[in-house]
Amino acid sequence: MDILLIEDDAIEVMKLQRTVKKLELKHNIIETKNGEDALEILRSGDKLPDIILLDLNMPRMNGIEFLTILKADPVLKYLPTVILTTSENRADLLECYKVGVAGYVIKPLKYEEYQSKLHKVLEYWDINQLVKG
Ligand SMILES: [Mg+2]
Repeated sequence: MDILLIEDDAIEVMKLQRTVKKLELKHNIIETKNGEDALEILRSGDKLPDIILLDLNMPRMNGIEFLTILKADPVLKYLPTVILTTSENRADLLECYKVGVAGYVIKPLKYEEYQSKLHKVLEYWDINQLVKG
């Protein structure tokens, strides 16, 4: 899959890259640091990603702001978007489902648990029929 990762923390980006590499998954990760950059990529005319993995706390444009714009776009709104966060804030969770997320995943702090959880997320999306086709 082509995965658009929207995440401002370089360590988190490395963690996902490392997980994909270690599990020998053949996914292509496109990295962006915030919602603004992500929208620029999505609107650039390049091919769209299969799924979006989205952080919530980011500078400039946070995850919920990005999601709101994405879901108002007639083309981009179909892209499955999964929240990846450490926030257990219930208001965030409700807001995300209200705007329209495909999933909300809390990242475990331990690397082994993170890896196993992310493996399941990617496996699940990999067997799905995806919009991009
Ligand atoms: Mg962040």
